[in-house]
Amino acid sequence: NTKRRAVMAGNWKLNPKTAADAKTLAALVGAARRDVDADVDVFVCPPAPFLADVVRVLEGSGVAVGCQNIYWKDSGAFTGEMTAEMAKSVGCTHVLVGHSERRELFGETDEHTRLKTRKAIDCGMTAVLCIGETKTEYEAGQARRVCSRQLEAALEGVQADELSQVIVAYEPVWAIGTGLTATPAIAQSVHAGIRQWFREKYGDGAASKIRIQYGGSVKPETVDELMQAPDVDGCLVGGASLVAEQFGRIFNFD
Ligand code: PEP
Repeated sequence: NTKRRAVMAGNWKLNPKTAADAKTLAALVGAARRDVDADVDVFVCPPAPFLADVVRVLEGSGVAVGCQNIYWKDSGAFTGEMTAEMAKSVGCTHVLVGHSERRELFGETDEHTRLKTRKAIDCGMTAVLCIGETKTEYEAGQARRVCSRQLEAALEGVQADELSQVIVAYEPVWAIGTGLTATPAIAQSVHAGIRQWFREKYGDGAASKIRIQYGGSVKPETVDELMQAPDVDGCLVGGASLVAEQFGRIFNFD
């Protein structure tokens, strides 16, 4: 089996409500991780105010912590933003970049995604680069084309030896938070296309190493079949990552 080490991530979005609740959830996720000796990387992405607490709670559990966003500048008059260095200094190792909610609701462009990816890599973090087509684009048969465009833009200037700091998350927009999981066949087909893009751009070695997560309504009931697809290396999980037993079942997939 030449498959890559699996990587499972929880994107908590704007949940839970308080620091106390975040610490409780983190403790449950940490306990679930300690209970399973699965050969898998796991990380969670809590809201910024909870990052430091969640890092402390998860210390030694084997669950890493990522942030949901960074800004690409190092300091200055950018009210409301957070630098990669700040996130790293409280123990974040990963950062989500280009999530469709950032693109759709907060006006993030391919160029912003490129700047954030660059900054995450330069800071020594792992950029979790989210890409994916909308429903209209999917129906028009443009899934692969849209993903290629987003990869091309975000990874411009990124060298092959820097790809160890990149995870790709394929998240069809029509499957996020909708309860509609892409079928394993759809996921596999797009993931294979994404890997082909890496092969053409960076060569066979890089393409065989890059990890590609699937995201979009992943649940305990759907994870096993998705993970059997040869080019699906993990999942990025929203809703189900807020319930520790569900997320635990997901990272302990069969
Ligand atoms: C996400 O936000 O990355 C996501 C996949 O959400 P959900 O699992 O809730 O669809």
